[in-house]
Amino acid sequence: MLTFSAQTRAASLARMAEDAFDVLVIGGGITGAGIALDAAARGLSVALVEKDDFAAGTSGRSSRLVHGGLRYLEHGELGLVRESLRERGTLYRLAPHLVRPVPMYMLADDLRHRATYRAGLTVYEALAAGRNIGYHQAASADQVAAAIPGLGGRTRGVRYFECQTDDARLTIEVARTAHAYGAQLANHARVTALLGAGRVTGAAVTDELTGERFEVRATVVVNATGVWAAEVAALAGRAAGAGRAGTEVSLSPSKGVHLVFAPGAVRTTAAMVAPAADGRFVFIVPWEDRVYAGTTDTPYDGDLSQPEVTDADRDYILSAVTPLFPGVTRRDVVASWAGLRPLLGGGAKTADLSRKHKIFDEPPGLFTITGGKLTTYRAMAQDLVDRVAADLGGAGASGLGPSRTSDIPLGLHGSAVTAVELARDEVTRLGLPSRVAARLVQRYGDDWREAVRLIRADPSLGEPAVAGLRVLGVELALARSREMALTEEDVLVRRTRLTTRDASVRLTPSA
Ligand SMILES: Cc1cc2nc3c(=O)[nH]c(=O)nc-3n(C[C@H](O)[C@H](O)[C@H](O)COP(=O)(O)OP(=O)(O)OC[C@H]3O[C@@H](n4cnc5c(N)ncnc54)[C@H](O)[C@@H]3O)c2cc1C
Repeated sequence: MLTFSAQTRAASLARMAEDAFDVLVIGGGITGAGIALDAAARGLSVALVEKDDFAAGTSGRSSRLVHGGLRYLEHGELGLVRESLRERGTLYRLAPHLVRPVPMYMLADDLRHRATYRAGLTVYEALAAGRNIGYHQAASADQVAAAIPGLGGRTRGVRYFECQTDDARLTIEVARTAHAYGAQLANHARVTALLGAGRVTGAAVTDELTGERFEVRATVVVNATGVWAAEVAALAGRAAGAGRAGTEVSLSPSKGVHLVFAPGAVRTTAAMVAPAADGRFVFIVPWEDRVYAGTTDTPYDGDLSQPEVTDADRDYILSAVTPLFPGVTRRDVVASWAGLRPLLGGGAKTADLSRKHKIFDEPPGLFTITGGKLTTYRAMAQDLVDRVAADLGGAGASGLGPSRTSDIPLGLHGSAVTAVELARDEVTRLGLPSRVAARLVQRYGDDWREAVRLIRADPSLGEPAVAGLRVLGVELALARSREMALTEEDVLVRRTRLTTRDASVRLTPSA
């Protein structure tokens, strides 16, 4: 097993304070983690610091879909759709346990709408250019009813495929893989200042757990802080004797909310796209024994760390859910989350702003990357590290090769089906239900073996961590030993996602 724990973090922080790095990445969301992996795999020395926890920002608060963005076709953004579909195919290949196909329905009883959907999907699948994960089909009313048993009426529709993931776990898996390639990473470590006069040469960092302060020196600093990018870029202008202006990064954060419904409230085995009150669409997606729905898209100018879910957000999402699933009310909502999109530009309605990424390379030594999607993080990282490599060329790193990440597996080597078959033999030998095998492989990839080893040594770890929920005790142990979870919130919100199932969950002191 690859250890990635509090001890790993302590060793990384010590190295950061002593060594000089080619690249310091600020931000441990999917963008920063992806950049750390790309750079480390090309042979650069890399450090990454995250002020809170990996995926504590937007990367743990998304719709959890790895998708081509069908609706961007409407805006004619063919390049973005093509790139997203290509990346969806690549991630499905690199992490088949974490990025899995999910059937998605668009419902329409009239022929004209179905024909429009099918025409759009034909273009969509063509843009996937050989990396499609399944072709769309017309669905009869009986087929729709079988897939979505809770639906209030009978209707026909069209079924196509996207991929679903666990965004926080994907981020952590990319961070772990970067560590395997030699990157030094630490969560709960905040950048408070940028160093250097003229060129940026590093950052001052505070360990948020101890209050200790130290400096990290690097030839290039990458600002991958999502909705905080403007704040961090502005530090460049504030450094003592900087002799330079900060980068002008203009972001228009947009809030997106999801609601989670209690088991049985919204009965569906498939995901679907549902029209909301204002003509936008909301995804309704099964998640283990729950279903979540979202998202909203509204301009946001409040506290970036704690975007709140308001009554208006709840009403908006329910306006899309209740016409399909009559009888669902606010009382069925057991959890929720709100995330902020780091959208570029200003002035336009947020839903119209581009999801493309942008790289700023001023002042010298600082690269700021903003925008993009979870789905396209790998391509964004490749683009950024290509730019960094060109910059480092002058600093003696011109021998760097191209990105290698399209061939680096993320936590599972080989087929997920084979891994589940092997795991099933082991878990049934331990007296556990065979479905535990799929759960362990989907969450831990190759490390399902370590989970089995721990349960064998202490059978109580095969029991649920919280009565009535599916998370096992072993998952709490692995969160700390292989996923650098340091606080209870790290464990509950992002590693085990217990709070996705029930917002009120707390661990007992002994857990
Ligand atoms: C509601 C919603 C739904 C979405 N759904 C999807 C989807 O289904 N599919 C998809 O492809 N995309 C989706 N997206 C987009 C996607 O989630 C984002 O593009 C992506 O997660 C952004 O990642 P990031 O790493 O750039 O930012 P973040 O994940 O926000 O990471 C930035 C990190 O920087 C850290 N940081 C900030 N300041 C400092 C500092 N001073 N020192 C150290 N660290 C610092 C923060 O704590 C944070 O963890 C969605 C977005 C939203 C809001």
